[in-house]
Amino acid sequence: MEWYFQRKSLNPPSNNPGSSNPPLNHLSSSNPPSNNPASSNPPSNNLASSNQPSNNPPTELDEILANLPADPGLRPPMTYYNPNFQEQIRRAYLQRGPCQPKSQNDMPQTLMGTINRRFLVKWFDSFVWLEYSKEKDAAFCLHCYLFKCDFDKQGKTGSDVFIEKGFKNWRKGPENFRDHVGQVGSLHNKATQHCTDLMNQKQHIETIVVK
Ligand SMILES: [Zn+2]
Repeated sequence: MEWYFQRKSLNPPSNNPGSSNPPLNHLSSSNPPSNNPASSNPPSNNLASSNQPSNNPPTELDEILANLPADPGLRPPMTYYNPNFQEQIRRAYLQRGPCQPKSQNDMPQTLMGTINRRFLVKWFDSFVWLEYSKEKDAAFCLHCYLFKCDFDKQGKTGSDVFIEKGFKNWRKGPENFRDHVGQVGSLHNKATQHCTDLMNQKQHIETIVVK
């Protein structure tokens, strides 16, 4: 009996991941994304170098952030990730910005009716959330990708075209992009607001760290 109580008392009282705040990891969040290909560093694996305290090995989150798929056609749904990691993943994508290839030659022509059509790079100028996947030759919405799962939890599911399937109706591109944005209070506009709030929150944290 005594052994039982001793053993029991040694065990941590809870295994409740929801009882504490998710790890904000704000020290490393002030660093640039670690997968920046423009870095002048040699192409060695420097996962553990700049944005980690020297006594900490790369965490699971570090590994995920270093390997986030850039092409929207290759990304898993946000719900694939541990809920405790999603905030950092969203920040990483927002810091990186939408996937917007600049070369029109990257977009293949597709015969639609009697006319060859394709995604037009100039559409990026009017729709800051717009992304293009070379893998799927399809358009996606970064903001909805990042936050749609939160709306799903509330039972407010919208269209998956710009999140999972990818949009390909190039004949009416801008028209459909405007429809996707919708009116004030639309799911897309709510997602955009969530993105703005998240990045403002980050700036707030950085201000505190600087002080
Ligand atoms: Zn959207």
